[in-house]
Amino acid sequence: MHELYKDSNGNVPEYPRYYRKSEKKLQKEQRKLSLMQKDSKNCEKQRIKVAGRHEKVANQRKDFLHKQSRQITNTYDCVCIENLDMQAMSQTLHFGKSVSDNGWGMFTEFLRYKLEEARKMLVKVDRFFASSQTCSCCGYKNPATKDLSVREWICPECGIRHDRDVNAAINIRNEGMRLVLA
Ligand SMILES: [Zn+2]
Repeated sequence: MHELYKDSNGNVPEYPRYYRKSEKKLQKEQRKLSLMQKDSKNCEKQRIKVAGRHEKVANQRKDFLHKQSRQITNTYDCVCIENLDMQAMSQTLHFGKSVSDNGWGMFTEFLRYKLEEARKMLVKVDRFFASSQTCSCCGYKNPATKDLSVREWICPECGIRHDRDVNAAINIRNEGMRLVLA
């Protein structure tokens, strides 16, 4: 879950390198803080330092999410996304901090209001829709893809090779467009 998303054209926007760098620095300072004697003067200093790094990381992430949602809004008239419950997901799959922290909630909120302002559409596709299991080419349902470790698969029905996430994204786009046209 290092990426923010993968889209139906196979685009994978990555957090910029400077953001990853700040994140690593924050982790380092946090580790330092956890080893310090509580209530000491140095500990207080370190706490302030960590708070500052936290803010920097949060601002850089926000900035990146604004740029991404702006670019999408300028490029497309209608955007279909999977309606994910990130909190439930990180708990069930034990991904821990990385999922809830990768900014998905904030990103979809930015996307929602930017599209709305531009009089464009954001369509949320139900998360129970079998986007990962269905072949976007022929509609065959492949139960083997329930296993999350399957990142690529070949459809036994039509023989096409799928990237798990791109195939799911195409299905979400198609389902979203079906809902819009209905
Ligand atoms: Zn197929």
